[in-house]
Amino acid sequence: MLFTFALGTTLEEGSETLAWLESQGHQGVLIPAPDRLRLIVLTPISPDITATFLPGVEKITPLFTPFKLASREGCPVDTIVKVADVAIGGKQPVIIAGPCAVENLDQTRRTAEIVKRAGATILRGGAYKPRTSPYSFQGLGEEGLEILAQVGAEFQLPIVTEVVSVDDLPVVSSYAAMLQIGARNMQNFALLTAAGETGLPILLKRGLSATIEEWLMAAEYILRTGNRQVVLCERGIRTFETTTRNTLDLSAVTAAKLLSHLPVIADPSHGTGIPQLILPLSRAAIATGAAGVMVEVHSNPNQAQCDGFQALTGAELSKLVADVQVLSDLIAQLNI
Ligand code: PEP
Ligand code: MN
Repeated sequence: MLFTFALGTTLEEGSETLAWLESQGHQGVLIPAPDRLRLIVLTPISPDITATFLPGVEKITPLFTPFKLASREGCPVDTIVKVADVAIGGKQPVIIAGPCAVENLDQTRRTAEIVKRAGATILRGGAYKPRTSPYSFQGLGEEGLEILAQVGAEFQLPIVTEVVSVDDLPVVSSYAAMLQIGARNMQNFALLTAAGETGLPILLKRGLSATIEEWLMAAEYILRTGNRQVVLCERGIRTFETTTRNTLDLSAVTAAKLLSHLPVIADPSHGTGIPQLILPLSRAAIATGAAGVMVEVHSNPNQAQCDGFQALTGAELSKLVADVQVLSDLIAQLNI
């Protein structure tokens, strides 16, 4: 059920209402959206709990969607996720860029320099890599986190990095500004909950074969912890097509935005696996409503230990950042 508070109701007043409901055995989450305060009650409520009975509550309406906290029905106002001082889901499109994996200090520093110079604002890089083969480079672990954090600080770029298990969460969250949950872990429910509990912003990638509803239900696990800082990332799904690495499902960007208040970004690097497709699909992602894109870049793609074949060069990234800005301005004009 959705409890909509009267305009001007404070968080404190809402918390009192929630505390009373909890004393009656209910569970709920307060939604402090910019327009007004709301409360989503996750347990069935008896008919004698009415709006007039609860101070400050203007109306109580049913929520039909299974993803109560992620839904736009429950919160019509777009959520803006803050990663240090970068806002994802606001007016400015956000470019997250960096290597697939942190390999060493020199490579990370050179790549971060490219990222910064191109105008991207968040640095990505994996220290714990979910690899299909156990014989492939698995990432540097904590050493990689140290390098990424050091380089991020040097170039004043907040860092996003993947966490692959609950056991690694304390160490990863001590370095990262944002945690990435990868496609293969989208339904690792223990990880979603534990990551949510860190309070850090979370980049939730869509699973390789996940429906949009399953993706939003995964977000629900994070939101249920009270952490509202979730960014959805469309990274391509498995289809019959083999020319591209995955099929970047851009309809999912628009559909997820329609169904959810969370910002959605696209990852055309993993979505296509083909450098020449990354620019056009980044433009297309912005046109479909993405709040930004995440792409892989490498200072020396031929030497990369991981995904070098899809890494952009500095010149390609600069062009992408400029084009995304143009597209974003154009879409803003069209939406007036
Ligand atoms: C990544 O972004 O480094 C990654 C492994 O992506 P995905 O989980 O989408 O495969
Ligand atoms: Mn990669």
